[in-house]
Amino acid sequence: MRQSVTVRAPAKVNLQLAVGPLRPDGYHDLATVFHAVGLYDDVIAEPADDISVTLAEPDPEVPLDGGNLAVRAANALAEATGMAEGVRLRLVKRIPVAAGLAGGSADAAATLVACDALWGTALSRDELAEIAATLGSDVPFALLGGTAIGTGRGTLLSPVLARGEFHWVLAVAAEGLSTPTVYRECDRLREAAGAEVPDPAVDDALMAALRSGDAKALGAALSNDLQEAAVGLRPALAQTLGAAAELGALGAIVSGSGPTVAFLVRSPEAAIDVAVGLTAMGLCRDAKRAGGPVPGAKVLRT
Ligand code: ATP
Repeated sequence: MRQSVTVRAPAKVNLQLAVGPLRPDGYHDLATVFHAVGLYDDVIAEPADDISVTLAEPDPEVPLDGGNLAVRAANALAEATGMAEGVRLRLVKRIPVAAGLAGGSADAAATLVACDALWGTALSRDELAEIAATLGSDVPFALLGGTAIGTGRGTLLSPVLARGEFHWVLAVAAEGLSTPTVYRECDRLREAAGAEVPDPAVDDALMAALRSGDAKALGAALSNDLQEAAVGLRPALAQTLGAAAELGALGAIVSGSGPTVAFLVRSPEAAIDVAVGLTAMGLCRDAKRAGGPVPGAKVLRT
């Protein structure tokens, strides 16, 4: 057996997040466009008798028991393959927690790849993706990376051929938002409005912008059905979103369930200006620059 495997997996932003009506089972059908960006968590997996997790830097927001998504991923792979070995997982978290950037999902995807290599279970990417889909809506995409349309609960993926590289600034808030709370608020707002919620569909203008690598058109086409709910729960986000024009960004959007706001900018130089501007205006705890698309979970070293 290998002594140690290190796997790196990216954060995501949703370029579009269309949320369908509340289903009887409590979930929503989605039509989303995932985009993997260059901000990563690493998972280091080492042989052990049982399955455990530690953090390189302690964080009270991240559980260290069976509720940790990395532990859930290792358990799911062990169960699917009949593997009796354990693993000691160490997480180097750079993706902010509860930020709408799918950091926990990145850890789950990285753990699947790391344990598969450590244990020699040698599953195909499709087999890993099947297990990933049982762990959460964003986990299969963290395996795949790039830019992809997600339908169903977000786990049915089809890659999008996007031209070129896009430059982002991620405005990270001081405090996270709970994804279920944001969905509940979205449902509440919709019920109060009383209008029929259409089935979710991918936006043609967004797809055309991606195919042609047109950052300006992409900035104009960004959309998120959860944004109103996230802003309702965190009114300060309205000011952050409003800074986009003043700072010369091509567009800004709440990422997933928030509260991170993703700013699309013209160039790496513009990203520095926007990051400095956001920090100077006191609109975020941290402004992280990242390019996209980037690949999904991959082995860094064994
Ligand atoms: P989502 O993918 O649901 O949009 P998110 O990106 O907003 O989530 P995450 O960083 O994935 O947020 O964390 C959501 C919650 O999951 C955290 O509040 C934490 O309690 C729990 N969690 C479980 N495992 C992990 C993990 N490995 N890293 C971060 N959070 C985890």
